[in-house]
Amino acid sequence: VDVSRSGPILRVAAAAALVSAAGSCAKTTLPPVSASGAAFEPARDERRLWEVAREEERKLREKVKLYQDPLLEDYLEEVVGRLNPRGMAENPDLQYRVSVIEDPTLNAFAYPHGSLYIHTGLLARVENEDQLATVLGHEMTHVENRHMLRSQRSARNKQLGFGIASIAAAVIVAGEEGEAIERGDYGKAARIDVLSNVLVGLGLQLAVLAAINGYGRDLEREADFGGFEKMAAAGYDPAEAPAIYEALRDDHGESGKLETFFFGNHPRLAARIESAEEWLAAHPATTRPARAGEVDRFARRIRPVVRDDARLNLELGRLKLAEDQLNRALAMASDDPETHFLLARLRLQQSEGEKDPERRKDLQRQAEASLHEAVRLDPDRPGPHRELGLLAFRNEDFRAACVHFRHYLELDPKAEDAGRIRDYVLELERDGHCG
Ligand SMILES: [Zn+2]
Repeated sequence: VDVSRSGPILRVAAAAALVSAAGSCAKTTLPPVSASGAAFEPARDERRLWEVAREEERKLREKVKLYQDPLLEDYLEEVVGRLNPRGMAENPDLQYRVSVIEDPTLNAFAYPHGSLYIHTGLLARVENEDQLATVLGHEMTHVENRHMLRSQRSARNKQLGFGIASIAAAVIVAGEEGEAIERGDYGKAARIDVLSNVLVGLGLQLAVLAAINGYGRDLEREADFGGFEKMAAAGYDPAEAPAIYEALRDDHGESGKLETFFFGNHPRLAARIESAEEWLAAHPATTRPARAGEVDRFARRIRPVVRDDARLNLELGRLKLAEDQLNRALAMASDDPETHFLLARLRLQQSEGEKDPERRKDLQRQAEASLHEAVRLDPDRPGPHRELGLLAFRNEDFRAACVHFRHYLELDPKAEDAGRIRDYVLELERDGHCG
């Protein structure tokens, strides 16, 4: 089992543990769910596996922050619906559900009972609907072709602990974050690889297998090919597949080694590109023109994700990535006040790290301009007034600081920091700056 890329926090302590497994050999070559259509009946151990998966999912959803955007979920489910072959859609037991996790890492994975998860970090890298279909089609094939069950049976037959059971048992969550997680303090573990630690820390073995480790070379390749077949059948363009995996490989000048998940893993991405090229070479070009409204709709649904993921990257200090994302969000909609506000926050963070006083001043001026643009686009948004107040205060423009702080308090009197800002206003008033 290759966990060599599992990141600085995870440390493999031991090899797979042997467990005694009784019983006869279970079949590991299984027909896909779609082969039996409405007549599909899950196997007994398959139902048990789904039970475990549902229980895991319940724990997962308690710990992660779900990205709340009902229209985005509808959109993703629509793409899934288009990719889904009839035989799969007809079965009564397996229905897909897509959830988005607010997390800037590159991750998408599927539970065997049809729950698909995708991180904002991955969604924000996708450039068109065909690329989105590439990732979804791959994950859907893991479900349709019953890869989790096949992996479990294969491990049992070899009298190994179910691959991932042994990995999770052997992985030690190390360092401060690990200790914070052991204490149940997930807030403290605010690091980029926090989710992988949560998965391991909670013992969410199926998610560790699906999201971090993957199903091994052969089944991953099968998932690639199955995804391309679905794309071609649905009228998507599999020629876009290498581009999304290239985009995931681009670390935008940030350190890529912090990425723990399967889709953030460079060798695994290289393997995806390789299978895409192999499939494309064997299949005549299937390029097709985008459907009416498709490009537009994709941009509308994805733009907020790109912007909000930029905010997460800002908070993590991944400024180059945040900048690229904000520029992209701006290119998709130049009149979104939140994007201008985030751009201002980016410039302010950049100015804090800037040693050259001229460049520092220039970044602050850019921040100020973006804040004014945010105010112009939405005068009722409190955040920009607060930042403008602080900027003015630091530049000793106390009259302007007073105006902006008062405006901020009017717009958001119950803000978390309202007390502090009121202190500033009092101080400014005492010193006669508020007119
Ligand atoms: Zn996969």
